[in-house]
Amino acid sequence: MLLDSLKQEVIIIAEIDESSIVRIIEELQNKGFYNFKFAVNGAEIHKIIREYYENPEAIGLIIISKDLPGCEIKDLYKSFSQWDGGVFIPLIVLKKDLTPDCDDWNFGSQNLIYHLKQDYSPVELQIIVNFFICLKNEKYLRYKQQERLLTELSERKLVDAKLKYLVGHDELTGLLNRSSLEQHIQLTLNRNSSRNFSQDSVLLFIDLDRFSLLNELEGFDVGDRLLIDVIGLIRNALNNVGLFARIDSDKFGLYLENCTVSQAEIWSKKIRTSLDNFRFVIGAIAYNITASIGLSSLNSAKSMIHPRELIYQAHQACCMAKTNGRNMVWKYDSDDTVIRERHRDICWVPILRDAFLNKRFFLLFQPVVNLINGDISHYEVLIRLRGENGIVIGPGEFIPAAERMGLIHGIDLWVVENTIDYLAALPIELSHIALAINLSSVAFQDESLLPTIKQKLEMTCVRAERITFEITETAAIDNFKQTRSMIHQIRALGCHFALDDFGAGFCSFNYLKRFPVDYVKIDGQFIQNLVNDETDQVLVHSMHQIAKKLGKKTIAEFVECPKTIKLLREIGVNYGQGYIFGKPSEQLMEQNIFQINDVL
Ligand code: C2E
Ligand code: CA
Ligand code: CA
Repeated sequence: MLLDSLKQEVIIIAEIDESSIVRIIEELQNKGFYNFKFAVNGAEIHKIIREYYENPEAIGLIIISKDLPGCEIKDLYKSFSQWDGGVFIPLIVLKKDLTPDCDDWNFGSQNLIYHLKQDYSPVELQIIVNFFICLKNEKYLRYKQQERLLTELSERKLVDAKLKYLVGHDELTGLLNRSSLEQHIQLTLNRNSSRNFSQDSVLLFIDLDRFSLLNELEGFDVGDRLLIDVIGLIRNALNNVGLFARIDSDKFGLYLENCTVSQAEIWSKKIRTSLDNFRFVIGAIAYNITASIGLSSLNSAKSMIHPRELIYQAHQACCMAKTNGRNMVWKYDSDDTVIRERHRDICWVPILRDAFLNKRFFLLFQPVVNLINGDISHYEVLIRLRGENGIVIGPGEFIPAAERMGLIHGIDLWVVENTIDYLAALPIELSHIALAINLSSVAFQDESLLPTIKQKLEMTCVRAERITFEITETAAIDNFKQTRSMIHQIRALGCHFALDDFGAGFCSFNYLKRFPVDYVKIDGQFIQNLVNDETDQVLVHSMHQIAKKLGKKTIAEFVECPKTIKLLREIGVNYGQGYIFGKPSEQLMEQNIFQINDVL
């Protein structure tokens, strides 16, 4: 049984003998076929076939007389075979007799061809038509599936190739990416370890100076364009020497195999000169582009296990170039103390992240005492970190690293929030307690600081005047304008300010009058030895006098003995803080604990 859908397929009858045509039609109509087309010569049959160029599968089969004028069956088949899918069209050739001639069978294995004697029986015609149409559809379907599979395969190959490329290259610049660079370095490492000699190779870590600023000012598209321009420049400058890779946004690695450090320095110079001569023009602005370059070498004197080590070292050297003023070349030196410090800084990062996650920070409180009556004026809040083994780590160890590694804003915010929460949680009878919070030197660069203070105070209903912020003199001078404006805004909320470590840095009395602070904290170094050091006494005296003239109260740090208290009172210093009054502790000390006159 043939499916009805197959019966809709066109049957082309190419025959001139009318009685033969009628017979074919009758017999096929009896079996449900109805879609016929007729051709009486070669030209007509070709014309019909052309109509089905796009969908040869619509042709069920062709019944053709061997003696059709102007038609060579062989040529007809040739044209079929050049036509996508045409090769499957079955052909029933009507012949007067079935003696084979040389043309009959050599059309190719795909072809469905059947020779039918003109005095065929109706059943024979019907069987062969059914069979051929089914077979043709089978063959055609398989052919299509195969074709689809092939295109899928070739597409997948293309995707694979593209993926392979992407895995090894940076998409924007087409340069090798970091992992490809590592692979190349690894090859040198392998080679050096397998042979008994080692070749010098050098990695240049190239970092464009202030690229993020250009990105911010001109947008990422312009930033991308600059990167591509710069790559072209560097490639030209180096005559395509070395393996060039993009390590991260504006950071590139140039790996020079079989190259000494002094040769690499010459290449670095060339890169810098080409950048010096280049102007990146955007509209009316011409940007001057510079780069900091770090060098690290692979040689027999250095044992290196992983390519990342080389990249890390070159990066360290590049950071040194940056911190030393940018636009310069720096060679990695493992004895470099700053590099070692940076390495230590890096070790702090996971510890600090873990401290946030696992609530390892906590606060201590140290009283600041009124030197006239012994009252506790307020407490300074001092942060601590509980290490994994329970050891308490002081801020001197992790705050500088946190500042350098960009984690300090998180700590500042944590201290602000927890201090205000602490005040809010105190019982009503302790609502007079005030606390002083240390802010890092870069705290005011964090835009979220002011809103955090504001929101926290509003939410907890803690009075702002219970909070004093301590900022160091050095930090204040570094960002003079910004600091002043922030102090104004935070003071407008009602908070107080203290200038910490006064005298330790610039001893900048000049600045003092321009900072709207309430307290000046005289640095502990002048106090610790006050009793025995007359110079300290003179200095503390003048610091106090000036502060007093400017309407600010003074606090002496590191007050450790009664004699110091006595001297400080004589000088007129208003408050004292130090071990004699109390070490930093998790508990607040009781008020009125110091009968100041008893201490003396
Ligand atoms: P600082 O602000 O000058 O804090 C005073 C430091 O002197 C504290 O050290 C305190 O424990 C110590 N100290 C107090 N009295 C005496 C004394 O009589 N003798 C001696 N020798 N030392 C005394 P600490 O807690 O180790 O803090 C060190 C520094 O870390 C602080 O110096 C401050 O700059 C910073 N820091 C502390 N807590 C925080 C914080 O929460 N945030 C920020 N950003 N920095 C903090
Ligand atoms: Ca302080
Ligand atoms: Ca201090």
